[in-house]
Amino acid sequence: MGIERLLPCSVKVAKLIQKSSCDVLCIIDRQVPPELVEQFGECRAFDKAFDSVVSCFKSQQLNLPVVYSPIQELSDYHDVRTYQKAAAKSLERAIKAGFKSPLLLVPASKRFANAELCTVLGALDQLYVPIQLREDVPEQAKRIAQLSLLIETPRAEDIIKEALVLESGRMVARDIGVGDPERMAPPRVEDYVNNVLSSLKKEVISDLDVLQKDYPLFAAVNRAANQVSRHRGRIIFLEYVPPKPARKTLMLVGKGVTYDTGGADIKAGGVMAGMSRDKCGAAAVAGFMQIVNEQKPADVHVIAALCMVRNSVGEESYVSDEIHTSRAGVRIRVGNTDAEGRMCMADALCRMKEIAIERQLPDPHLFTIATLTGHACISAGDGYSIAIDNSVAQKAGHARLLQETGQSFGEPFEVSVLRPDDFDFNKGKVIGEDIVQANNAPSTRTPRGHQIPAAFLIQVTGLDKHGLESNLPIKYTHIDIAASACVFPEIPTAAPIVALAKTHL
Ligand SMILES: [Zn+2]
Repeated sequence: MGIERLLPCSVKVAKLIQKSSCDVLCIIDRQVPPELVEQFGECRAFDKAFDSVVSCFKSQQLNLPVVYSPIQELSDYHDVRTYQKAAAKSLERAIKAGFKSPLLLVPASKRFANAELCTVLGALDQLYVPIQLREDVPEQAKRIAQLSLLIETPRAEDIIKEALVLESGRMVARDIGVGDPERMAPPRVEDYVNNVLSSLKKEVISDLDVLQKDYPLFAAVNRAANQVSRHRGRIIFLEYVPPKPARKTLMLVGKGVTYDTGGADIKAGGVMAGMSRDKCGAAAVAGFMQIVNEQKPADVHVIAALCMVRNSVGEESYVSDEIHTSRAGVRIRVGNTDAEGRMCMADALCRMKEIAIERQLPDPHLFTIATLTGHACISAGDGYSIAIDNSVAQKAGHARLLQETGQSFGEPFEVSVLRPDDFDFNKGKVIGEDIVQANNAPSTRTPRGHQIPAAFLIQVTGLDKHGLESNLPIKYTHIDIAASACVFPEIPTAAPIVALAKTHL
């Protein structure tokens, strides 16, 4: 699919305000073009809030409406998201006012090297229209007709081109993430991926016998949903093979729980709403593959697995106390069916490990990306992803690098580390079980609630046999995006695919 079909409107580079064919000028910087200096001075003279709220007025000099959405006063602790937010607010105000062709003046920043790119991404954020509205009400498919961008640097064209590639990935992630439990049920995610990522190599595992034999933990979660044909789970493998010999291999597994009822440990007390967003990990992985497919890195090999499954409740529900043996041969006792995210990803992660070994792929780095725990939300706070390296990735300094890159591109991370007690916590309690999948308290009331699942994923996939002292150390990073992917019912953010793309491609 061409990138244009994935963009929210036509986007063009403007050279001069007067020749841009815009119907409104969006400004976020306090430094304004010479034609506006006097009028801005006058506004400041009578309006003490002028540089802290969004204003809309007409410039007599330019004969053009202006939306002024000032960048917040910066402290030492602010980051480039301040630019993104100002740009998003300016577009929001312009759309509310009824304008259709805004021109955004994109400022540079001495302090933030990527301010221009991030400002453009912030503006594009605001233009996203949920897939179901685009499909059901085509006349509302676009919020504006055209976005013009004036960036005063010789790199303007490159910045916009890069922003559009990144945005196309974010569109894919948002589409899958935002779709309701029916529109983005597993079979329909497969259709969507077939349509959008048609040029990538693909393998879809949906046969029940194969799932039960090769992906038994996924199959347990899928058992209730499998009773309804349109809800049946599938694991969608995607592969990008670079034109040159690969220097490294990225292998990403995404949690794609299309609806999480909690299963038989049902989410009670009104906490189920919003659980259609429990697929934002797989959505991010699909979005990342869209960026890979556009950028076509010369020597980076990428394999992805979208673990699409609905955690339904019914007579076939898997329940606590069941014993299952993982693909890697580890016996697991289910402790809480609402801890389905780790279950649905584990065997695909194990398969990635096997592929890396069997095919002797160069410098493999495995990932799981998931809206996994409420604990991530209380521990990191809204807007922050959490990266947890295994020993091998940590030795390579990976999570810190991801954090640094994310910080400079407006997708910040907290870094967590694994401790021996995170592994001990999961150990089986009685003969016959190697690992207990979860305790029966919410992660928010469990100390180390977001680190423990990362340890679980290492233990049940056999990745614990590929540590620093092993014959074949393998890098693995678990990313919990419960706090960064979306705050329901807000539109999913598509985090952390910009940070991942900038770090790894
Ligand atoms: Zn759950």
